[in-house]
Amino acid sequence: MIRSRTVAKTKSKTQPGGQHVVAGTPADEHLVPPGGGVLRLTGVGKEFRARGTTVRALDKVDLKVLPGEFVCVVGASGSGKSTLLSLIAGLALPSEGHISLGERPVTAPGPERGLVFQAASLFPWRTVEQNVAFGLELLGLSKLERKRRVSWYLREIGLAELAGALPRQLSGGQQQRVAIARALTCEPEVLLLDEPFGALDVQTKEDMQLLVRQVWRDTHTTVLMVTHDVEEAVFLAERVIVLASDPGRIAAEIAVKLPGERDLSLKRTPEFLILRAEVEDMVRAQHRDHVARFGG
Ligand code: ADP
Ligand code: MG
Repeated sequence: MIRSRTVAKTKSKTQPGGQHVVAGTPADEHLVPPGGGVLRLTGVGKEFRARGTTVRALDKVDLKVLPGEFVCVVGASGSGKSTLLSLIAGLALPSEGHISLGERPVTAPGPERGLVFQAASLFPWRTVEQNVAFGLELLGLSKLERKRRVSWYLREIGLAELAGALPRQLSGGQQQRVAIARALTCEPEVLLLDEPFGALDVQTKEDMQLLVRQVWRDTHTTVLMVTHDVEEAVFLAERVIVLASDPGRIAAEIAVKLPGERDLSLKRTPEFLILRAEVEDMVRAQHRDHVARFGG
């Protein structure tokens, strides 16, 4: 897919929740050139040693994510989903194998890989705007450029009216929007999401799903998201990867052939339900296999 962040120049749209947003250009100057690189994991393994025991969290993971793809990784708790993201984020190093983004090996965190966790982890003393600007301050951008980017992403994410609010004045969903906006302002090539809606109620979660799909379509950022929610994965992704546990490894991969334009009614269509059942069966088969090998 050709990736250009200037596609949304004259577009306007209505956001989940009815907010009307006029999309503009996220940035004139890019920190990273448009057309980000391929994310590639080759033979990646990760072992944790703690108190005399060794846990093999990941084993022989080969994965390629193309620029502009939206990929979801599903798997049971403990199957290595968070480990996988933390390695790609550069927060930990693999025990074996190699990770690269474009031509660059991944060995440490970097602004081209934005990470959002389940907990928003905002600075409580900073306003929404100041929280969103945080990454840009670290990158040393000018005040003017920071202001421009922050206001664009706050609008994109439906938070413009809350720019001056403090985190404690926000709902859980709004806090998570701030965390996503904070990651996006750095204009990462890859946005890494670790169960970002896991703590939200069903309605807020569905608003956030629509929002993330919209942001992905507007910005053409590559998205790699982990979740244990199969419905969420099928609704959001173009491709779903199923992980097996002990050791964490890729068990299956499913292409999601659903329309690009997705709204919540899609979740009730036969095509969606069939695909969802297919992925659920795969996750269930992995679980049965795990129980047979290790007990419950
Ligand atoms: P998931 O996100 O799919 O629930 P994780 O990646 O958190 O799974 O964990 C995978 C496995 O690795 C689990 O068995 C977990 O206990 C183990 N693990 C993860 N992080 C550590 C760590 N820092 N030290 C020891 N074991 C860990
Ligand atoms: Mg996890």
